[in-house]
Amino acid sequence: MALTIPDTTAKRIRLIMHLRKEGITDTAVLAAMEKIPREIFVPEAVRHQAWDDIALPIACGQTISQPFIVATMTAALDLKANDKVLEIGTGCGYQTAILAQLCRRVYSIERHKPLLKEAEARFRELNITNIVAICADGMKGWPTIHGVDQAPFDKIIVTAAAREKPPQALLDQLKIGGMMIIPVGENGQQVLRRYKKESEEAFAVKDVLPVRFVPLLPDTATGG
Ligand code: SAH
Repeated sequence: MALTIPDTTAKRIRLIMHLRKEGITDTAVLAAMEKIPREIFVPEAVRHQAWDDIALPIACGQTISQPFIVATMTAALDLKANDKVLEIGTGCGYQTAILAQLCRRVYSIERHKPLLKEAEARFRELNITNIVAICADGMKGWPTIHGVDQAPFDKIIVTAAAREKPPQALLDQLKIGGMMIIPVGENGQQVLRRYKKESEEAFAVKDVLPVRFVPLLPDTATGG
């Protein structure tokens, strides 16, 4: 079935100009955000707001991040065409689709199965083939599947907030020289933090921005 995407050119350009004004200068990130149709990632009821710079509700009580935050996190990862990226919190899949434009492959983990299924359907509709997504507890990192390990990753992005610090399994699955971006802190007072792995034990840590994310929760969700 062909996907008809309504003409949102004017809205797209307005958002990209706004992101530039807010300080996003990475042209590859801006081009990816102009290209990926955010309206297909949000519920029908809020579709008219898809190109506004706001977070919106999605299923399972979760949220699709504000475009400015998606742009900031993606730019902070300094993605290279050959990077292998791990994402925790697929949600609607919007951030995943943006990452997939800018790196070799994205491995994404979501704890709500219904969200994962919908995100995978969108990747198929958009013909994005370099995403592997699973339903699991992302706090444990990417699992060994049929005897195959994917870690270490060049970059890791977490789109739900850790309470105090990144889960150890994720720090372990980062390549030396690699980078992780993750919101850390309790409700309402989180900070977006960037960890650069300098050796097996040493990380250079930088605070990027105060943010508000839904919490990172253990295990997979039951009942959708
Ligand atoms: N990037 C997503 C953000 C969704 S909100 C988007 O733009 O749509 C954060 C997501 O992280 C939620 O879908 C939530 O279910 C998921 N999440 C929280 N803890 C998790 C965990 N331990 N493992 C995998 N996903 C998790």
